[in-house]
Amino acid sequence: MDWRNRAVCGGSRAWLFFGPDGETAAERARREARAKAVCASCPVRGECLDYALAHHVRKGIWGGLNERERFRERLRRSRTEAGHASHGGRDSRGMR
Ligand code: SF4
Repeated sequence: MDWRNRAVCGGSRAWLFFGPDGETAAERARREARAKAVCASCPVRGECLDYALAHHVRKGIWGGLNERERFRERLRRSRTEAGHASHGGRDSRGMR
């Protein structure tokens, strides 16, 4: 089964996850908080976030993260992978 079939957001609340043009910073903050609260109870949050990161989705709330938070998460993951690769796949104790 596709993970989207288990998403709690559904299509009817897209405005909550993407927001309208001309939204003020305060409106955006309130809307994003509401969207993130929905994501917090979603059983496919991890899959949703992985999808957005893998496909470089730029807009909206995905997996409980907004655009800026996903950018930081992508950086964090790439640094973790780079660090792991530079140790030849070994952890800090030299173990695989
Ligand atoms: S994590 Fe959030 S945006 Fe992703 S499927 Fe679940 S409710 Fe929807």
